[in-house]
Amino acid sequence: MISFSKENFLKQIYSGQENGGDFTAFSFLVEELKVSNAAITDMSRKLSVEGLVNHIPYKGLTLTPKGKSEAMKVVRRHRLWELFLIRTLGMNWSEVHEEAERLEHFSSEILIDKIDKFLDFPHFDPHGAPIPDKSGKMPEMPELILLTEAQPGQEYRVARVLDQDPHIIMYFNRVGLFLNTRLRIMEKFDFDKSINIFCNGSEFLISEKVGQTIFLEQI
Ligand SMILES: [Zn+2]
Repeated sequence: MISFSKENFLKQIYSGQENGGDFTAFSFLVEELKVSNAAITDMSRKLSVEGLVNHIPYKGLTLTPKGKSEAMKVVRRHRLWELFLIRTLGMNWSEVHEEAERLEHFSSEILIDKIDKFLDFPHFDPHGAPIPDKSGKMPEMPELILLTEAQPGQEYRVARVLDQDPHIIMYFNRVGLFLNTRLRIMEKFDFDKSINIFCNGSEFLISEKVGQTIFLEQI
């Protein structure tokens, strides 16, 4: 039995390559979709017959242009729903990902285009992720780096956070880390890869795991 949808599969292949990777590894898909390696193999075989993905042995999967266009539609629906839920229902940015995960599969293109217009054609979602337009084109993005790759002594602004784990986002609420919050990297500790940052007038430690969910733009 297939316990995950084709749409989620394409979306995860896209997200594996979104930050510069050439291929999405099977191991990444196994972890993100929480299915077996065999299920990933089955699905990738099926979708390569449909002309949506290419399987490069020992490397992973890439999307064909047709597959990318399908993935963009799901990404667009997801990110527009997140912004809509915050703007219209006043939900918190820690709550909307789960809801959007469901809504993204049941929305017509007409509804999504209306939401896009209602929100005045936004370029970014509440977590700083770019929203593709109706034709699948992404807005211009500044160059971003992960907090774990940032340099001590430099100042940055928070430009994007990964939204999968609501507990991490609730932690951001607690310590006052939001989009556009400015921070300075004070020190990086080799022994556990944690990072001491200065932000909102105080210093605190960010673990490597949390640091890998925050993207920064140098200022
Ligand atoms: Zn999300």
